[in-house]
Formats: sequence, structure tokens, C-alpha cells
Amino acid sequence: VLASLFHDPSHFAPEGKYQLLPFHFVRLEADRYILTNLVGEYTVLERSDLAAFIAKELSPGDAVYRTLKARHFLFDNDNRVALDLLALKYRTRTARLADLTGLHIFVVTLRCDHSCHYCQVSRQMEDRTQYDMRNEHADLAVDFAFSSPSPTLKLEFQGGEPLLNFELIRRIVERAKAKNREYGKDLQFVIASNLTHLNREVLDFCKLHRMAFSTSLDGPEDLHNTHRTLHRKNSHQATIEGIQQIVDHLGPHSISALMTTSQASLPRVRDIVDEYVQRGFHSIFLRGISPYGFASRSILAKQYSPDDWIRFYIQGLDYILELNRSGYPMREEFASILLQKMFCHGGTGYVDLQSPAGLAIAGIVYNYDGSIYASDEGRMLAEMGDQRFRIGDLMNDTFESAMNHEGLFSILQDTMTESMPMCSDCAFQPWCGADPTFHHATLGDYVGHKAFSTFCRKQMAIFRYLIHLIEDVPTAREVLLGWV
Ligand code: SF4
Repeated sequence: VLASLFHDPSHFAPEGKYQLLPFHFVRLEADRYILTNLVGEYTVLERSDLAAFIAKELSPGDAVYRTLKARHFLFDNDNRVALDLLALKYRTRTARLADLTGLHIFVVTLRCDHSCHYCQVSRQMEDRTQYDMRNEHADLAVDFAFSSPSPTLKLEFQGGEPLLNFELIRRIVERAKAKNREYGKDLQFVIASNLTHLNREVLDFCKLHRMAFSTSLDGPEDLHNTHRTLHRKNSHQATIEGIQQIVDHLGPHSISALMTTSQASLPRVRDIVDEYVQRGFHSIFLRGISPYGFASRSILAKQYSPDDWIRFYIQGLDYILELNRSGYPMREEFASILLQKMFCHGGTGYVDLQSPAGLAIAGIVYNYDGSIYASDEGRMLAEMGDQRFRIGDLMNDTFESAMNHEGLFSILQDTMTESMPMCSDCAFQPWCGADPTFHHATLGDYVGHKAFSTFCRKQMAIFRYLIHLIEDVPTAREVLLGWV
């Protein structure tokens, strides 16, 4: 359909003239502007070149003309294939919509031995087994996951602390592998764990089934233990021991970690990155606090402003680039995701940066009680009494009925960034996303007025900074493009 809109270029481009293709622009700094097109290709122009381009005063011999033509900002009668190529790139960008749903999150228990101040999931005490997922729900959830058309299935175990219900993880993995003999999908398993319940049996099982771990490491011992409280034990020490056990048993590529930024983290980003280096990691995800669960009720979420976090993030990114230049390969995961959106036509499956939103399309959640949620944050809001992201239950719904849930459709309709107020005019839109759960939690509606959206503020700042690095700092450009 899109291609047909571009057919017959003569209609658009009278002889000897060029025509503009849809694009957005925003000031980068002073007299320089970022231009992005329909498929997220970009260029940076001086104001005078931008003005000449819009006034159709450029000549085919100009370098700027050739750049704009190659990147689908203009077309002329010389090149009919360009329009079909643009349409093809647009289809490639949106192809993952047809391959829903790759990520399936199993909340196997809400119980946890930690009581972190910023806990997003409203964890329960260790002895409260009524918060464990039942076998029948687990079996149905596996069947549900295999009903999705996606050729890749990532089954992620979350909690609480999922290893407190390891027998259920074992059951789910074995059932999924048995089922996959028939389906032949690319099947992956990840456990999001604090690693305090690792033992030989768990490690052997995970090795046999090539399972990966994701854990939380907030930084050096004093910083990590500030908000991650483990009764009777030192949380940092337990995490480091767990990381080492996984490295020794499963290999260094089987463990990744992410941190949560608190006010105490703000002046210490170098210490945090150094801690990751010391533990042998080559990647880190610099992450702010999410406004869900206990964090929403504590003052933690309000202790620093979006600008504080942006400064922290930029300092961290600069330091990571410095480490790379000095010979230690290190990657910042959020920047990597954004760079993939900027430079790969297929984009990324990162749930928060999709249009329409990744709700149920990029990832779906099976809660401990059999409820199905359209996002992980949706189930976190449910623990706070807000059920609007619930799209069914495992006992009564099929994949088709949950995906056709009326509430889900109405949210998805609101989350096309191409048509959202402010996003539709924004040069960063092709690389950005909707994140309706965050906007609902912080601003009271799925879209959110972007002038008041901390999500938008952070996105704009990071996009600008990445483009500045790529355009103006050759050594940074080399490292950043290596992350794509
Ligand atoms: S959220 Fe902000 S940065 Fe993202 S597309 Fe919308 S206006 Fe642009």
C-alpha cells in the first residue's frame, strides 16, 4: 500500500526538479540541524543547506544533494528505484509486527529473600507460597507461548526471586523443549535472579539447557547494599559469589547485569562502571528508577530529577568510551539499543521503544496467579491495584483471544508515535517509542503530554548526545558504531 503512494514519480517530480520526501528536523546546536526521514535515516545539515534544500535550490552536483538523495530525503526523475527502496525499508522496519510475540515472561513466584527499597514488583515474604505459580498455569503458559507466530521464543523467568520456585522453572523448560521438537523455534531461556539461591543442581540444569542469567549489580559494595537489603547476608557479596559461580560453571557469556540509579549513585558513575570492569563484565545497562511497586511509594523515585539522571548517564557513557579507547571493550546497553534503532533497518525488539507500543506484541507476561498482562510494568501496576494492562487469564483465554482483547486494541491505537501529539512532529520519532505504561503511571494517560514527560526529556537528550558524538568525535563514533 505504501509503495503505491509513491508510484509514478512524474506526478511528484516535474522535469528537472527534485521533490521532498517526508522528513522531520530539529536543531542540534547553533546553526546545525538533524534531519530524519520515514525510515529513520538521518543527516546533519547547516541551516543554510537546510534552507536551500527546502527551497529546492540545490543542484544535482552538490554534495548535500547527493547525500539527501542517497538517504531518501529527496528524489528526482533520475532514480525511480529510490521510491520502491524506501517503501521496502519501511516494510522491513515494521516486519516484526507480523512476527509477534518473541518475549514470554513467566512470573513463577512473587516471593523474594531481598527487600529492596526500589522493588518494582511488590515482592512477598519467602514463606508465602500462595504467591507461587501453579503447575497447571505454567503448562498452559508454555502452550500459549508456542501459539505465537514468532520464530524466536525467549522464555524469561522473573519474580520475586524465581529460583525460590526452581522446580517450576525445571517443569517449564522441559515442557518447552519437548514441545519445540515439533515447532523447531529458536528457543532461549533467561532467569532474572539475585543469585542467592544458586546451587549445584540449578547450575547443572542451566548448563544442560544453555540458560542465561540476568542479575542486578548497583555498583561497589556500599552502594549496592544501600538499597538492596538481604536479611542475614551481605547482598553484594552474595551477588558477586553468584556471578563467579555462573562464570565458572556456564561461562562469562551466560551472565549479564544491570544497575538501578538512586540518588547515592549520581556522583559515582565511574565507581559503578569500575565495579563492572572489576567483575569482568563487558557491558552495563545504566538504568533510572521505575515508578512502579515499592519505588512509587517511597521517596526514592522523586529524589532526583530527569536532568540529574541525564548528567549521570552522559558522564557514564563518556567514561565507557574512555575505557574503550584505553583498550577495555565495554558497551552501554541502552545506547546500543538506540543505535540499533538508528542504524539497523530492522530496529530492535526492545519493548519500550516500539510504535505501536510493544504491549503484548514484543512481550507478554504470565503472572503467578494465571493472569496475562501486556507488559511487565503492567503486572507491576496490577500489584498496585490497577488492572488496565490485564488482557486475559490462562484458564479461559487463547493466544488469539488475549491478543484481540478490546482494552489492548484501544491502548495500541493510541500508541502510534507517527500520529501522537508532539511525537508526530519530532525528528527523533523514527527511533523512539510510546511506553504507555510509564506515561499512564506518571501522567495519567497512555500518550502523556510530552512537554511534561520525563521519558521524552531523557530520550531527546540521549539522542542529541549520541548524534553529537557520532558527528563530531571520531574516536567515539568508531566505538559506538561497533555496538550496532
Ligand atoms: S517521546 Fe519525545 S523524543 Fe520520543 S518521539 Fe515523542 S516527542 Fe520525540
